[in-house]
Amino acid sequence: SVPAAVTSAISAGARRGLLIKGGAALEAIGSVKTVAFDKTGTLTTGRPRLTDLSGLGLDRLDALRLAAGVEAGSDHPLARAVTRAASDAGLRIPAAEGALALPGQGVRATVEGRALWVSSPQHAATMVALPEGLLATLTSLEGQGKTAVILHGDGQALGLLAMRDEPRPDAAQTLARLGRLGIRTVMLTGDNARTAQAVAAELSPSDSSRPAPGLDVHAGLLPEDKLRAITALRAGGGVAMVGDGINDAPALAAATVGVAMGGGTDVALETADAALLRGRMGDVADLVQLSRDTMTNIR
Ligand code: ADP
Ligand code: MG
Repeated sequence: SVPAAVTSAISAGARRGLLIKGGAALEAIGSVKTVAFDKTGTLTTGRPRLTDLSGLGLDRLDALRLAAGVEAGSDHPLARAVTRAASDAGLRIPAAEGALALPGQGVRATVEGRALWVSSPQHAATMVALPEGLLATLTSLEGQGKTAVILHGDGQALGLLAMRDEPRPDAAQTLARLGRLGIRTVMLTGDNARTAQAVAAELSPSDSSRPAPGLDVHAGLLPEDKLRAITALRAGGGVAMVGDGINDAPALAAATVGVAMGGGTDVALETADAALLRGRMGDVADLVQLSRDTMTNIR
């Protein structure tokens, strides 16, 4: 039988938006050695905004319009940033055919009769030559914690778009708090290493030129690499994975405790062992604390 302390801790959690699926999950979260976080939508708000736009041999608003057409069928946070910017600029988003997403890399679609991609610079470079000077621009944008993507097609780079996703306001404090609880923290992201390191530096509570103390950054990961990273971390003890529960479902499932951030989506609730309905980073540390307090009471 489940001890009364466990049942009452689960109800107490639920009243504060910490949804815990059963006594086993409650017990496990307090003894994890590592908490791994998805970057986009977990350490950051997940609502990136377009900050930079240029056409490459193309008018910049044409580049935005075509990119928005390609992204219109995608529900990736970057896609929403592009389509919102196009609408805000008063552009009519063209219809797309044959849209196809490559998870962790980008999207392809036929727009106005042209086969176009919007994808990461790494992916774009496998298909088109990136113009001279673009690499320096990319380095600079990524150093500002921005994610740059390339519009390309017909064997040419056609545009450059950069987005910035702000860190959640309580992310830095929460990482520091987890550190004080003796827990190692890890960022897992599909974004490139330079952007990831720049965001990690902003998650440092004091010295913003260095990454948050103890935060290990694993960048450039495809969804299956995130799963492998979790499996590798589990060799060192229990691992909690905190993610938005859609792209990160495999990693959530592979963790000792999967925690869905923001809650709400069906996939999140099905895959995760716990969900943070208020979408606050601090709730991750609260979960650990609730578990430890409960287990201390029982023993
Ligand atoms: P994260 O781990 O940060 O959530 P993803 O794995 O979803 O990142 O994506 C990794 C990278 O793949 C993005 O930084 C971007 O370069 C590219 N990418 C993924 N989806 C899209 C998209 N819809 N449009 C443009 N680029 C994309
Ligand atoms: Mg993602």
